[in-house]
Amino acid sequence: MTSQIMIGLECHVQLKTNSKLFCPCPTRQETEEPNSACCEICLGMPGSKPVLNKKALDFALKVALAFNCKINEKFFFSRKTYFYPDMSKNFQITQYEIPVGSNGFVELSSGKKIRIRRIHLEEDPAALVHEAGLLSSSHCLVDYNRSGIPLIEIVTEPDLSSPQEAREFLDELTMVLSYLDVFDFENGTLKADCNLSIVGNERVEIKNVTGKRNVEKALESEAKRQSELVKQGNQIARETRGFDEKSLSTKTMRKKETEEDYGYIFEPDLVAFELSKPEIEKTRRGLPELHSEKAKRLVKEFGIAEYDAKVISGSRFAGNLFEEFAKAVSPKIASVFVSRDLVAIAHHEGKELEEISGRINAVQLKELLVFFEKARINEKTLKEAAIAHVAGGKNPVDFVKENNLFKDAAGSEIEKIVSKILSSNSKAVADLKAGNEKSLNFLVGLAMRESKGKAEPREIKKLIEEKTK
Ligand SMILES: [Zn+2]
Repeated sequence: MTSQIMIGLECHVQLKTNSKLFCPCPTRQETEEPNSACCEICLGMPGSKPVLNKKALDFALKVALAFNCKINEKFFFSRKTYFYPDMSKNFQITQYEIPVGSNGFVELSSGKKIRIRRIHLEEDPAALVHEAGLLSSSHCLVDYNRSGIPLIEIVTEPDLSSPQEAREFLDELTMVLSYLDVFDFENGTLKADCNLSIVGNERVEIKNVTGKRNVEKALESEAKRQSELVKQGNQIARETRGFDEKSLSTKTMRKKETEEDYGYIFEPDLVAFELSKPEIEKTRRGLPELHSEKAKRLVKEFGIAEYDAKVISGSRFAGNLFEEFAKAVSPKIASVFVSRDLVAIAHHEGKELEEISGRINAVQLKELLVFFEKARINEKTLKEAAIAHVAGGKNPVDFVKENNLFKDAAGSEIEKIVSKILSSNSKAVADLKAGNEKSLNFLVGLAMRESKGKAEPREIKKLIEEKTK
């Protein structure tokens, strides 16, 4: 009998705001100069007073609503006390007793509902920099630029019963974040603390796992480790473990402390917040079309394959890209290119399409697709030029030109064949000019036979139409 696994996730997502959660410092910098984007508030100087960033609250509210949470109209912030160099004031401002949203759910493709316990706002600690060679291994540097960057934490109940379900949950989560446009996919990372237990045994927490793939791998490795221990009749120790990306295994970090050990107290420098019912309703009504609705619409509106529509709707970026391409070429060409070719290029780098969005120039790729639709380049060239563009930063059309990949050489041969067919079939040409569609098919058939199948029918059709205008 396989043992039943219970998994709960605590996901940390950096919100895409311009300034930090409680001060006006920028969340992104022009330069990477350490400790250049901080002030007395995010450094935690005595006497400094935090002020809540309304945009971050608005983003958290949107996420909570999209995940069917109950919104707490009154909520406040708490101090989570701990001593560590990454938090100079010795506490982190977070939400504990009453978060922005609670009791929500996410539905997986199987119809199973994963309950969301809470969604709350908190500040990111500073970054500890272990610079090899610069200092001895007993020292490290602290960069406070990250200190105070807004995060939301999304906590599930332990309803996930396999690493694959956890992955599907995270895919759902990132799709929603993408549509709400609250997460910076290119520069931000999704981190999760993963709790896993085998029913009837102690629970183990795998701390701070970065990215969806690593979460799945960490859980797979941990489920295997615990199952083997249980099979051998051993006890599972309640502890916190870390995930090693190289060996794909988890290692003991420390014995688990409980949440209560942190000693939460009410944050006296921030007043209690209130969200009015009309305010909440306004945000709810303003939520954008989410991925499942979008997939249905794309099938209905553009007649593209359901599978492609699902992939394209997987991110706001892919969806917008498709709709942009579909203005210039047929929806079929656009959908196959986005859902298969571009996605494959991203996956080849171990990334999602959204994560490479900054390297995709829609205008240049649109031009490339038009060449493909007009049969001036073949499918192989289309893919090669797309790779040269995304991976090598090359204008894809320049790539085709410089490498002489236009089918024009073959094109001129086909043009000769078409001219020959037209001049020796003047009656059919006259009929075609008079509007007889059957003559067009007749002439296409003749040219196809003459080219011995080398030409594509749509290419010949287009040439005949041009020449008999
Ligand atoms: Zn600051």
